[in-house]
Amino acid sequence: MGTILLKQATLKGEQKDILIRDNRIEVISDSISLSAKREIDCTGKTIIPGLINMHTHSAMSLMRGISEDVPLREWLNNIWSIETHLQEEHIYWGAKLAVLEMIKTGTTTFLDMYWMLPQVAQAVEEMGIRAVLTYVFLDHFDVEKSEVQKAECKCLYDSSKEWNKRCKFGVSIHADYTVSKNTMVWAADFAKENGLILHTHISETHQEVLSDKEKYGMSPVAYYDSLGILDSNVIAAHALWLDDEDIDIFAKRGVTAVHNVNSNLKLGSGYRFRYGDLKAAGVNICLGTDGAGSSNNLDMRESMKTMSLLQKGWTGDTTTLPLNELMDVATLNGARALGIDTGRIEEGALADILLVDTRSEAFIPNINFESNFIFSANSSCIDTVICDGKIVMEGRKVPGEEQILQKADEMAWKLIKSQ
Ligand SMILES: [Zn+2]
Repeated sequence: MGTILLKQATLKGEQKDILIRDNRIEVISDSISLSAKREIDCTGKTIIPGLINMHTHSAMSLMRGISEDVPLREWLNNIWSIETHLQEEHIYWGAKLAVLEMIKTGTTTFLDMYWMLPQVAQAVEEMGIRAVLTYVFLDHFDVEKSEVQKAECKCLYDSSKEWNKRCKFGVSIHADYTVSKNTMVWAADFAKENGLILHTHISETHQEVLSDKEKYGMSPVAYYDSLGILDSNVIAAHALWLDDEDIDIFAKRGVTAVHNVNSNLKLGSGYRFRYGDLKAAGVNICLGTDGAGSSNNLDMRESMKTMSLLQKGWTGDTTTLPLNELMDVATLNGARALGIDTGRIEEGALADILLVDTRSEAFIPNINFESNFIFSANSSCIDTVICDGKIVMEGRKVPGEEQILQKADEMAWKLIKSQ
């Protein structure tokens, strides 16, 4: 590794020099005169932490636009029929495409739920960002499938110890309508015993809540809790249709809730994510894009904008989700949930940094950087991305991007034609 010196960068409105040593931010000062291995002139650039996408299915980027204008159940059935044809090469190039898009739109860490983890891990390792890759349980209430998945999960967990330290292993329960009770409990116990993240889709649609109430006499959140699954390692994607009791359970158990605003809107699942009530209860709240099969892109900045507009729109309260909280939702809160020392530009933190170019019409006048970044600009303002102390994009160029575009396109068509 080595040293990178960021000269004359704007940090929270002030000009600063920032020294990165190895993979951490070592010094932030008005002026640093030290010869670093690499010095970057940051005139006109503002520094913010790398964004954290807390729910996605990376290799689904190959399925962008494949199933449009249909409800969630039909969408899932369409996707599942394509997924039966997935091979390792699809996953690898799909993940490369996803990570390329994430880097270009400023994401340096993501929480993934998908198949064939070694191929995704390889893509992430090569591209230089961070990820928690979760093994997904989806047994469709089939006992034989459940046993196969348990064995596969254990085996992959063991082999994940060889992964680069930027990649962590985790466990996912797809949802309570696709996974048997026995498997859900096993997955939760396995995650707890090994100190792993447990990720799941929960209360995404009204239908899901109604059906659990009919089947179990309680909401999905209460059902998970009755099985002893909910704990501070649980990251709940969607959490859209929560009642007051669900919010209390999340708060009591320390569960993190992840809003996936664009995907929820696109699939007609709803839009009344109870940010204000979750926040008041002390629940950690994060943001995700979901996979590109439903949200069509992995652009966190765009999701931040939609989330803010929607919160203000449906609650009629312009003070809800102020800019500083929105920045935390997309950075620090995710880092906290994943137990990774990132999401902040401070001495000692991991060096996961975006350099945002403010020399464009979207930032004139630059009275409020966060507001310009989220509401006025688009993600092409992100000029340079540093992750783990290494430059992964500079001047909007990512090494090897032409090959990734060509191979991913080839793989997507191959997958479509294999149906
Ligand atoms: Zn999802």
